[in-house]
Amino acid sequence: MSSYQNNMTAAKNNSEQFSPAGMDKMFIFLEEYGVPLDGRWRPFLVFLNNLKYHDYLTKKQKKDINKLLTEILTAADYEEKQFQRYIKKFHKVYSANYIKKLNETIDESKKLLKEFKKLSQKRSHNVEELQSTTVEYIAGSENPKNIIKKVRSAFIDVIDEMNRDTEKLDQLSKTDQLTGLGNRRAFDDFLNAGVAKYSKSFPVSLMMLDIDFFKKFNDTYGHQIGDQALSTVGKICKFCVDKFSKKFKLILLPARYGGEEFAVVMPGLSLENATELAEFIRITLENYDFIIRNKKGEINHKNITITVSIGVAEVQPHWRKNPAQQLVEAADKALYGAKERGRNQVRQYSVNLNEDNETVIIL
Ligand code: GH3
Ligand code: MG
Ligand code: MG
Repeated sequence: MSSYQNNMTAAKNNSEQFSPAGMDKMFIFLEEYGVPLDGRWRPFLVFLNNLKYHDYLTKKQKKDINKLLTEILTAADYEEKQFQRYIKKFHKVYSANYIKKLNETIDESKKLLKEFKKLSQKRSHNVEELQSTTVEYIAGSENPKNIIKKVRSAFIDVIDEMNRDTEKLDQLSKTDQLTGLGNRRAFDDFLNAGVAKYSKSFPVSLMMLDIDFFKKFNDTYGHQIGDQALSTVGKICKFCVDKFSKKFKLILLPARYGGEEFAVVMPGLSLENATELAEFIRITLENYDFIIRNKKGEINHKNITITVSIGVAEVQPHWRKNPAQQLVEAADKALYGAKERGRNQVRQYSVNLNEDNETVIIL
């Protein structure tokens, strides 16, 4: 460990980094390292050093920022040109996560475009075939009635294939690549359609599910293993939802709402039954033994438990304006309640009327 790292660890261990005493120590330290006393270098280095106390950065980002700090202090080159170079390096590290998300979105779009291109080439070939078949039928000087019948049937075949293409592309554009569940687009469409169609005569429920302490999971096992865990959580959700779909003969949609948050849209299911499903998902996940294997398939870690907090809500009859959005907000509030009360639990959003006919919200 370099003397810089030793000093930094000492400052952290003393938990003085934000106290005046901690700051003094930091400034003495910067002085010792010959960091110029100007309005940029010292604030920049203090800022970099303090970033390690912020939760929103990943372990890797913190490690890279620490590396950058060491590089700056070791090089001790405080020219303007260097300052710009370090700022650029810092931006690269700082935005690494956003760049990853952006790349994922671009990859998803590329895949969709590739599929679209493949299908449209295939169909264009079909249309060429249709053209030559039509010409053949007409040139064959058959009975016009037969010609029309054959041409019509050939057209119907091509139209059917095109409709299937549209469905396939629609499906692809609504699927989350990592988990295979519905993506945010699928969620929005299904929720809006479900609320519009059912909520006047049937219950429409929604659950929002968020993995507990997932940042820590990523920090402990790495982002890639985190991705695998997300995929497994998605599969378990789907398994549980499918069971309830069969039991109640209803179409329910499990979706990845974003990041480590999932949702299940349940048109036709009451709050009670929706809560039962949420509890089933929570318990199945709690009892699932997550195993991490290396590339050779050997077990690196076992007995890993992932827990989730879940909020469940049902469309309320007095919600006049945008009930779908109100449902999301209500389920989100219940989820927040589950987090606040200690996580790994299901909370309901329910509304009761008291004697004065006022709305009382119970979580
Ligand atoms: P809480 O119990 O309060 O929900 O804690 P948390 O750590 O799960 O919540 P927080 O919102 O602080 O962090 C969410 C984490 O989820 C941070 C982010 O790195 C991780 N995450 C979000 N999307 C993905 C993803 O696509 N892959 C991986 N591996 N991690 C993700
Ligand atoms: Mg979250
Ligand atoms: Mg979380």
